[in-house]
Order: sequence, then structure tokens, then C-alpha cells
Amino acid sequence: MPRILDPDTRRSLIERVRYYHELGIYDFYRRGPAPGQVEASSIQPEARGQMTPRKTMAPRPPIEENMFEVIATRAELKVSDPVEALGIIREDLGDCTRCVLHKQGRKQIVFGVGNPGAELMFVGEGPGADEDEQGEPFVGRAGQLLNNMIKAMGLRREDVYIANVVKCRPPGNRTPEREECETCSPFLMRQIGAIKPKIIVALGAVSAKTLLAMNASMAQLRGRFYDFKPTGVRSNDPDWSGCKLAVTYHPAFLLRDPRQKGEAWKDLQMVMRELGLSVPSR
Ligand code: SF4
Repeated sequence: MPRILDPDTRRSLIERVRYYHELGIYDFYRRGPAPGQVEASSIQPEARGQMTPRKTMAPRPPIEENMFEVIATRAELKVSDPVEALGIIREDLGDCTRCVLHKQGRKQIVFGVGNPGAELMFVGEGPGADEDEQGEPFVGRAGQLLNNMIKAMGLRREDVYIANVVKCRPPGNRTPEREECETCSPFLMRQIGAIKPKIIVALGAVSAKTLLAMNASMAQLRGRFYDFKPTGVRSNDPDWSGCKLAVTYHPAFLLRDPRQKGEAWKDLQMVMRELGLSVPSR
């Protein structure tokens, strides 16, 4: 069974590997213990002089595969055209079976849609039934509301890029599990690295918590910008080392509780000001 790392350990490990990358070291090999090999810590102090092993180290389970997959040097880093870079990432994703969502009724992978050179990117949670049917994020009722939100900002849907944390529909529109988010999100991180937006708007708690690796309530997460750098992704553009990230409510939540639309509008106005868009006085 793959070993799932807790977020802090995972982040530390990714930072350490990124540091090695900055030093120009890209290839890493994990070596299991040789038969009969012992760890120094497993030898009793009094026995160290004789080097008598107390017990043999158990074989370590493999670290989850896609941690190193996302950190490894990527072909998309060699291209400057975001369309081409996104094409490479989509090709890598392939007919993905990396998490259980591939066998829970998905019709197709919903990769993302919009302007590959967008300054503004929206990231939702996962595809619903309509998105699964059409292969495009945010096309159902929640998508209509997102379109209206984008229009209210003075933009068109085709001006922005829209993607989700998980790219396959969770059965019954359930919330994606943490493990599913962690397995799929490296591809989202790579999409962000290819698009290089100025601002990301995380739609809802799943998106915000996955992108920020923070466990906090929506009330705590909203109302400010975060400095965001996609985890494990090295940019080929010296002018882009990350972007700002804001959190607002998921449109599906706003459909259920329209009283929160005013709060979401405040979040979008904050984003508009940062993008230099004119904000209506009321
Ligand atoms: Fe692969 Fe993501 Fe779909 Fe899971 S949700 S099967 S990781 S594309």
C-alpha cells in the first residue's frame, strides 16, 4: 500500500526537493534496505561495538508515486506556449486511473477550459453530472452562476481559465476525499504553472484547502489574498514565481444559500481591484 504522508511532511519534503532542484539536482533514487541491512537506531548501544543487529529493518513502503511525478523535470517546462504546455499535461494525464474516481462511474476526464494565457483562474472542486457529460467544468446551474459572476466582473468566460481540483466526477456529487484531491492536484498545479495567472480564485472549501494546504473555515479563509506558488512546480518563466490567491464561495453553495451572494461579490470586487478592473460603485 502506498504511504500517504501528512501535509506538513509532504510540504517539507517537496520544499527539500525544490531546494535540490535549485542546486541543479533533479534525479533522486529511493533505495530499499539490502537484505540483512540494519538501521543504526535499531542496534542496542551496548551491542554497537560488536555490530550485532537486534532486528532487521522492515522494508519501507513506497512513498506515494505522484509526489515525485510532479516534482520531476517536466516536458512542459521546455515550451513557452501555454497551449502546448497544457497539451503536454493533458497527455500525461492520459486515461488516468491514479485514484479510485476512475472506476466510480466517470464518463470522461474534465481537464479544464478557457484562455491558456488568462490572468484570472477559477478553481472549483470537481465535475458534476453535467460537466461529466459535456467534458467541461462549470456548465450546469453552478456554471451558469459562475458565468454571471465572471460577467459581473466585466469579463467573459473565455477570458479566464476554469479547472477543478479533481478531474473526475465523484459519485453522487459527493465531496472528493483528501486522498483523491492529493492524487489529482499535482496536475492542477502543473496547469497553474503553465497558465501563470495573476490571480487564482478558489471556489469553495475543498479548493481553498487543497491549494493552500490549510485547514480552516471559509470565514477564516475569505477576505484576503494569499501568496501562492504551485506545489512542486518549477516555472520556466523568470518573471513568474507565483500569484495571488483569493477564496470565495462555490457557486453551488450560493445556489443553496443565495444570501451569501453579497459576500461573494465582495470577494470578487477585491479581485477586480487587484486586476485593475473598474469596480461599480454599487
Ligand atoms: Fe486521475 Fe484525477 Fe481522475 Fe483521480 S480524479 S482518476 S487522479 S484524473
